[in-house]
Amino acid sequence: MSENRVVQGRMVTAEKLAELVEGDSVMEVDSIEEADRECPDCGGNVLKVTYMPSVTELVTGWKCQDCDWSEADRD
Ligand SMILES: [Zn+2]
Repeated sequence: MSENRVVQGRMVTAEKLAELVEGDSVMEVDSIEEADRECPDCGGNVLKVTYMPSVTELVTGWKCQDCDWSEADRD
């Protein structure tokens, strides 16, 4: 997974994007795509990233490309 995206004016890797959502290092990034939603804070474009913070967990995260907003869905 080596897809780079621009987030808050900086080029980030998929792994770095997942780390921004998680607030910590992640083990593996599964996928990254354009989310079908807008940022609730600024209306900006949102990226969806699926990642594994550990071997037993799969998390779906969202991160705005324009501001600090992010959200993680763990179950
Ligand atoms: Zn935003």
